[in-house]
This record gives sequence, C-alpha cells and structure tokens, in this order.
Amino acid sequence: MRDETLFSGIQLASLLNALPDPAFILTRSGRYKAIYGGIDVRYYHDGSHLIGKTVHDVLTADKATWFLKEIETALAWRALHIVEYSLVQGDIKGLATSGPSYRLWFEGRIQALDFQVDEEDAVLWVASNITARKEMEDQLRMLSEVDALSGLLNRRKLMSVLAEHFDTFERYGTPMTMLIFDIDHFKRVNDEHGHLAGDAVIKTTADVCQRELRSTDAAARLGGDEFVVLMPHTTCEQAAPIAERLRLRIAETLQGLGRIGDCVTISGGLTCLRSGDGSCEDVLKRGDDALYQAKRAGRNRIIGTD
Ligand code: GH3
Ligand code: MG
Repeated sequence: MRDETLFSGIQLASLLNALPDPAFILTRSGRYKAIYGGIDVRYYHDGSHLIGKTVHDVLTADKATWFLKEIETALAWRALHIVEYSLVQGDIKGLATSGPSYRLWFEGRIQALDFQVDEEDAVLWVASNITARKEMEDQLRMLSEVDALSGLLNRRKLMSVLAEHFDTFERYGTPMTMLIFDIDHFKRVNDEHGHLAGDAVIKTTADVCQRELRSTDAAARLGGDEFVVLMPHTTCEQAAPIAERLRLRIAETLQGLGRIGDCVTISGGLTCLRSGDGSCEDVLKRGDDALYQAKRAGRNRIIGTD
C-alpha cells in the first residue's frame, strides 16, 4: 500500500520500527542517520548507539571501506543492490567481549533514497541475518565434497579440482603434479584385525597427508584404500622428494598404531600434466599405470612417469 495519507508521520515511524530486520539510513559519507526495526532479538543487537557515528567510527578500516564502496554502488545504480557480508566481534570497534564471538553473516539490501538526508545522498540498508542459511550451505557443501571416513576430498570434488588445474595448465602452462597411491596389502589388515582397524589405517593415512602437505595441495580419497594428492605449481622433479617423504611418513605413522599398522606401506605413481593430455582422465590413467608398476615392482615405492 502506497497511500501516504493513510498514516501520520509518527505512525509511519512506528510501522518502520516494527520491522523484524534492522533498516539503516546511511549517507554517502558513511554516517548512520537513523535505524528502524531490528526487533527480532534472536538475530539482532540493539543498533541505536550507531546513530550519528560513521562506518569508520564503528568498523575496522577494511570493513568501513567496503561499506562505503557498496553505498557508492547503490547510489550510482539506483536499483536494489544486494550484497552478502560477514562480521565477527573484531570487526566492530568497542563491542563488549561478552557478545557472540562466532562469525555472523548478513544479506544487505541497499536502495538509494530519492531525497537527501542533511544535504547528503543516502541509502536505506536493510541487514538480514543469514547465518543459519550460510551454515546450512557450508554443511551441504562439506557433505558433497568431503569423504566422511578420511575427512579428505571425495572423488567428485577431486575431479573438479583436477579439471580446474587442467584448464589453468592449458591456458597458462602452470605445472601440476599428481600422486596417486594405494595402501599395500590392505585386505590383510581387514582380514587379520577387522574392518574397524582397516578404517583406522585409512584415517591415519589421511591425517598424515593433511599434516605433511601444503595448504595449496589437495588430498583426496578416491575410494577404498586409494588416494590422490594434487600438487599445484610443482613439477614432477620437485614433487618426487615430497612424495617420497609422504611415503616414509605414512609407513612410520602407521607403525605407531602397533600390530594393526605394523609393516603397512603404500605404493604410488607420480605424474604431471603434459601438453599432449586430452583430458583429466589421461592424467589419472597415467598415474594409475605408474601405481600398477610400483605394485608389480614389489610395492612400498613411488614410480614417476617422467
Ligand atoms: P594391493 O597391495 O595390491 O593394493 O592389495 P590390497 O590388499 O590393498 O588390495 P586392494 O587395494 O585391491 O583392496 C582394497 C581393499 O580395501 C578391498 C576392500 O575390502 C577394502 N576397503 C575398501 N573400502 C574400505 C573401507 O572404507 N574400510 C575398510 N576397512 N576397508 C575398505
Ligand atoms: Mg591396496
């Protein structure tokens, strides 16, 4: 309803204040001129202390600059501008340390106003707390990308990361080396110590990968006792000692499990992206062939293809 005559000014202010989500009037220079609504105390703190302050007064420099940029965009665009952002305690200056310390996510819906406020252009910035939705999205992403037993990437995610590296290699020639490895005589572990002991060996192997590798490397469990490690920006020559160290560390750590992991080793194939490769599958196949050779050559070794 857009009938301005239906409510008085006081009634309109009261209506705005009844909104569950907070709505801020922010000027081009980043000053909070008014705040309405935000009555849903499950999601929002009282923001009335912000009035009269600027984003630089209440936010860290990075966040304040970002707010100003988004206000500018909304003013230039004139249409509804929608942004997502997160705030943690440290982003807000002078906030009591007793408040929630976790990251809160907001959707900001920003609309330029068609009148000035104190001789400045201004926007209406409605901030909706979307933390629950973000957490749900993170949870779903995790479930669809991570292997439950090992905590490493699953096959689906590995293939998409590999495809990205393949594209980067084709476009810019950026090297990437892949190690594919498999636990030796793993069936014996299951047969002699039971399936749960086998699971512990898989989990320990995965933990070593996560501990030993760089954060830019990606480790995945392809399935069963087979794993893949992607090492971006790394040539085969550079990757060989890394793979060798991983092989030794895994065997050493599994020995720490006592009888279960005693004498358990891995075999692997090491290969890098090549200009003749038609697809990711070619790379996986070459790595798999090298792994097979390592098994045939007596296991407990890494064989490179280059
Ligand atoms: P090789 O040295 O040739 O690799 O011999 P292997 O005994 O390790 O044989 P292979 O790799 O072919 O067998 C893998 C075994 O892993 C077969 C399967 O029973 C077992 N396995 C697959 N997934 C799981 C799992 O999630 N947990 C456990 N405990 N065992 C699994
Ligand atoms: Mg095996």
